[in-house]
Amino acid sequence: MSTARLKVAVLGSTGSIGLSTLDVLARHPDRFEVFALTAHSNIARLREQCLAHRPQFAVVVDPVAAAKFSSELQAAGCATRVLVGEAALSEVAAHEQVGAVMAAIVGAAGLRSSLAAARAGKRIMLANKEALVMSGPLFMQAVREGGATLLPVDSEHNAVFQCMSGPGATQAGVTRSDVRRVLLTASGGPFLRTPASALVAVTPEQACKHPRWVMGRKISVDSATLMNKGLELIEACLLFALPPAQVEVVVHPQSIVHSLVEYIDGSMLAQLGNPDMRTPIAHALGWPERIASGVESLDILRAARLDFEAPDATRFPCLRLARAAAEAGGTAPAVLNAANEVAVEAFLQRRLSFLEIPEVIERVLARHPTLPASSLDDVLSADDWARREAQAALTAAAGVCA
Ligand code: NAD
Ligand code: MG
Repeated sequence: MSTARLKVAVLGSTGSIGLSTLDVLARHPDRFEVFALTAHSNIARLREQCLAHRPQFAVVVDPVAAAKFSSELQAAGCATRVLVGEAALSEVAAHEQVGAVMAAIVGAAGLRSSLAAARAGKRIMLANKEALVMSGPLFMQAVREGGATLLPVDSEHNAVFQCMSGPGATQAGVTRSDVRRVLLTASGGPFLRTPASALVAVTPEQACKHPRWVMGRKISVDSATLMNKGLELIEACLLFALPPAQVEVVVHPQSIVHSLVEYIDGSMLAQLGNPDMRTPIAHALGWPERIASGVESLDILRAARLDFEAPDATRFPCLRLARAAAEAGGTAPAVLNAANEVAVEAFLQRRLSFLEIPEVIERVLARHPTLPASSLDDVLSADDWARREAQAALTAAAGVCA
């Protein structure tokens, strides 16, 4: 019964989260219809996905790639309409026929389309944490005013959301006076045991080789610097209306406990599972019901032990920088995010060393007088300013790195 199916737009379908989302969607053809797919540059993969899922729309951001793509689809007998350019991302996200939007574009590039989904009152499954971190209270306001349902896909936030559901059920953004603290777990990344002296020379390949998760390159580097957990700290404060002091980070190398919530009576609830993003994706797709995800049962006897330790603030200064930005509020998180995006890209291009990533971010933050972020323009100009400052800081660091 195709009329009853939920139409889903997958923004960033060619990425790691996009692939996992399509895997879950394909398990439930009776329940979901793939309405739109979008890609930046991986046209070969987008073509494959269009042929397999037959969406009504495919968005390609690059116009040159799009022209050829459209005729290729036609030749293959695929009726998918190809839309071009950044604005088309927001168009499909807010399309009247769309019921749910998977926001899985990486970085600030996903801000406008995620916001468009919020304003249009969609069910937003949010992986694109950078969009929320940048625009903060404005994003939450768009969710409220648009009547959208915001469901966290980031595994930690999805875990917290699951631990906060139940009688007196919570909604993202609504304060819980019965919560004492939230503990976000961090795997610690590939350099958890790497001595400070060896961090100087680590390569992008080493940074992207995550011990537990297979992810896109930007988030892999963020996991290695612990900036990912810093962004997630800001994300948690916004989603669950908590002050930064109530959100703690704990390193848990096995990545089995995806986060914990402690209540005022001393109860601690946790969500456990194999580290596979299809679990939080299926949770967000099916909520408030549970649907199959394809994830194997966690073999708790084989896992046997769960370790927890404090993060090392000396080797991983990004966590401290993110906490300071969370406390400052206003434009500070947007500046932190933009400077990080520039520094990570430079590291991936071998123009910056690993240890210089936090240095660049700190330099940019130190020069930034925090301003109120009352409009999208405030956020975008802070983002733009921070990118230019970070580029200047890169030039200052140039030559240090081979
Ligand atoms: P990825 O690099 O694998 O995929 C990124 C997607 O975004 C691709 O489809 C790409 O085409 C698209 N994209 C990139 N730049 C774009 C642009 N300028 N305009 C339009 N589209 C663009 O990244 P990922 O690992 O899938 O991560 C996606 C988001 O989900 C990130 O915000 C990340 O932090 C978050 N997230 C990822 C994971 C994970 O396990 N991969 C877990 C939690 C959260
Ligand atoms: Mg996460």
